[in-house]
Amino acid sequence: MDRAAPLPDPELTAVLSGIDIVLSEPQDNLSENILSRCQALKMVAQRAVGYDNVDLDYCNRSGILLSNTPGVLDNATADLAFSLLLCAARRIVEADRYVRAGLWHGFESDLLLGREISGKTLGIVGLGRIGEAMARRAWGFGLKIIYCRSDHKNSGTTEFELDEKDRRLAQSLGARRVSMEDLLRESDFISLHCPLKKETTNLIGAAELALMKNGCILVNTARGKVVEEKALVEAVTKGKIIAALDVFAQEPTVPPPLLNSPNTVLAPHIGSATDETRFAMAELAVNAVLQVLQGGLPANLVNPQIFESTVNKL
Ligand code: NAP
Repeated sequence: MDRAAPLPDPELTAVLSGIDIVLSEPQDNLSENILSRCQALKMVAQRAVGYDNVDLDYCNRSGILLSNTPGVLDNATADLAFSLLLCAARRIVEADRYVRAGLWHGFESDLLLGREISGKTLGIVGLGRIGEAMARRAWGFGLKIIYCRSDHKNSGTTEFELDEKDRRLAQSLGARRVSMEDLLRESDFISLHCPLKKETTNLIGAAELALMKNGCILVNTARGKVVEEKALVEAVTKGKIIAALDVFAQEPTVPPPLLNSPNTVLAPHIGSATDETRFAMAELAVNAVLQVLQGGLPANLVNPQIFESTVNKL
């Protein structure tokens, strides 16, 4: 089976037919339409932290346990997000192509001038596990850090109560929690680290892109659909922003204007792709299955509230 391409729905349904437990990945479309035809299914062990490809509401209603792999991929994903930022700011991919094309004829003082990182402001949308790992890297590079968390889009207010986590981040990294709107206006670079769910689908659209500083570098290692792709293409094409992307709305399709633009750096969804991290993710996913089979409640179960009523059926 080709695990790189999403399986068409009929094939996916056929593969899952009669199966009790499935180890899934982000490209597997486990929608209600598919899940409802897999009557034997009791558990989905997702080898990823994001589980937007799985209909959680349906799982809850139908007694299907769902586990994911939080925590073990934070460093790998933040490393990639920070690398994308550096690549875009210092034009590293462009420089590589320039040398390989035989265009380099000697030192020039204005050759491939890029943007300084230190002293600039990085806005992080979603300061969870990966967002915090990104913030630690940014702190090490001398960036000022601002961030927003849940429920600030269109809130119309910059007032929110800081919690223990906000106080800890302010103290350790000098990071300041702001509203989404302030983040969009103030950041030189923006990195997205929120999960894809109903409230974050198209979180960054034309209006949000318009608020960004001209030339803002937008890094997306979250999920493609967090950004409205049509608006992104337009902003990139007009030179309003530079986009450094690991994820796309309809993977593996990349809109041609993004492929052809000098204002993009592109990667094929490799945020967690290190030997060590992919092994740790597989181990966590398989251990969750083994634990459930032995009647135990795994810490990485997304819907522990249905555990008691479901575990006996396995
Ligand atoms: P996490 O620990 O749950 O953190 C998510 C953060 O997003 C939280 O801080 C949360 O806010 C914030 N958030 C939620 N809704 C928001 C909204 N509407 N506006 C702003 N912030 C919002 O998740 P994680 O483990 O860091 O993973 C984040 C995502 O990264 C995953 O869901 C996955 O999609 C993606 N990912 C991609 C790759 C890749 O290969 N490219 C690899 C790993 C993960 P609160 O703090 O207020 O709850």
